[in-house]
Amino acid sequence: MSLRKRRRLSMCVLAGGIATMVFAGEAAMAPGALLVLAGLALDVLLVRCPRCGAWLGNDPGEFCKNCGTEIDYKAK
Ligand SMILES: [Zn+2]
Repeated sequence: MSLRKRRRLSMCVLAGGIATMVFAGEAAMAPGALLVLAGLALDVLLVRCPRCGAWLGNDPGEFCKNCGTEIDYKAK
């Protein structure tokens, strides 16, 4: 799975959690919050620098902020 796909996956889970909380009302607060946390956890676990393993963060650029490696989002 490429970095781009991993990022999209975690963002989808996170957005699903937020949508659940916003649209499904109070009863869905707990499961919605769980989805948001799961999305964040997926991002931290999966969206990492291929070289040094640092989390690329909320706003990843072309280069790793930790080691300066150029990030290839399409590499598998
Ligand atoms: Zn790095």
